[in-house]
Amino acid sequence: MSELGCDRCGRSLLAFEDVRYKLEIKVYAAYDPLELSPRALRETDFDAEIERLVEACDGLSQEDLESSVWKALTFDLCLRCQREFLKDPLPRRREDDADAKAGEK
Ligand SMILES: [Zn+2]
Repeated sequence: MSELGCDRCGRSLLAFEDVRYKLEIKVYAAYDPLELSPRALRETDFDAEIERLVEACDGLSQEDLESSVWKALTFDLCLRCQREFLKDPLPRRREDDADAKAGEK
């Protein structure tokens, strides 16, 4: 039997837990409906737009491109980690973390 552990704390889920939980996360780009008008169709240079998009993708790996559009993650959790996750599923970014990221750009 393969060992199944909690992906958060590492505790064995088969030896120590009566119940285990699956956590599935999907992160995907949200798009607004396209706003196409006859005028936009006439005035848009689609060749230039495609060229711009290809250039924007240049240098990015397949994984980077895919994860910028859609990413699914699956985790196994023990009871304690499930409860802790539900209490704070989306921890706020600390102010200094936000500043550090902004400084990188
Ligand atoms: Zn755990």
